[in-house]
Amino acid sequence: MPRKHIRAVALEKTYRTGQHEVPVLKGVDIGVNRGEFLSIVGQSGSGKSTLLHLMGLLDSPSVGEVILDGQRIDNLPFDTRDKLRNRVFGFIFQFYHLLPELTVLENVLAPLMIRHPSWVYWKRRREYRRLAKDIIQKVGLAHRIKHRPSQLSGGEMQRAAIARSLVAKPEVLLADEPTGNLDSQTGQEIMDLLTELNEVESLTIIMVTHDDSIAKQAHRIVRLHEGRIDVLEEAA
Ligand code: ADP
Ligand code: MG
Repeated sequence: MPRKHIRAVALEKTYRTGQHEVPVLKGVDIGVNRGEFLSIVGQSGSGKSTLLHLMGLLDSPSVGEVILDGQRIDNLPFDTRDKLRNRVFGFIFQFYHLLPELTVLENVLAPLMIRHPSWVYWKRRREYRRLAKDIIQKVGLAHRIKHRPSQLSGGEMQRAAIARSLVAKPEVLLADEPTGNLDSQTGQEIMDLLTELNEVESLTIIMVTHDDSIAKQAHRIVRLHEGRIDVLEEAA
């Protein structure tokens, strides 16, 4: 059996709010192959975002493990986890999370500025700007490079967020309802872009959605229900 690119093993997550304990994930097992495009569906509040955050090291599980290329990563020291997260994972979100005061180019460059000491960034900034511009072109935003988010449509904002997620050359793209705020045609254009990135760049993609027609476009769908993976079905 080929080794999975990324796995969740018996993942549990319980949130504590005041006196209350809310169990959200109750033992989730998922394995994702390198280059696979996986959809995770489930009702609002079923824990889809929680699961994505755990797999991408944005949060820690209460119980269980996250395994990348056969190695456990959820229990690494804080700074190692931070570096690994920046190197391995790209994230996109329903509401884009762009910085409103920055242009498209500056938003896309932001992860590189954060990642490197400033003298390294300044030394390499021509190379980085070229890289960012290439990626912006690839996502179809070359004509919007100096625009700010408020001057963009929803689809254009998501393209900018996708470009930003790609600039650090991630292995795994984690997409949380990436079409959730878009009309169906624009949503489909974003899906076409994600499919192309998956096929051409062999990017592993884990996408959360509650839209079945979007979910079906992945290689495989898993359903999160009552804290567990409920149904496994092959997409068309
Ligand atoms: P989904 O993305 O499927 O809508 P979430 O993972 O966002 O679901 O949330 C699952 C459940 O966990 C919800 O009941 C939500 O209120 C709760 N929850 C999520 N994040 C937190 C948190 N930081 N603290 C407490 N409860 C949370
Ligand atoms: Mg969510």
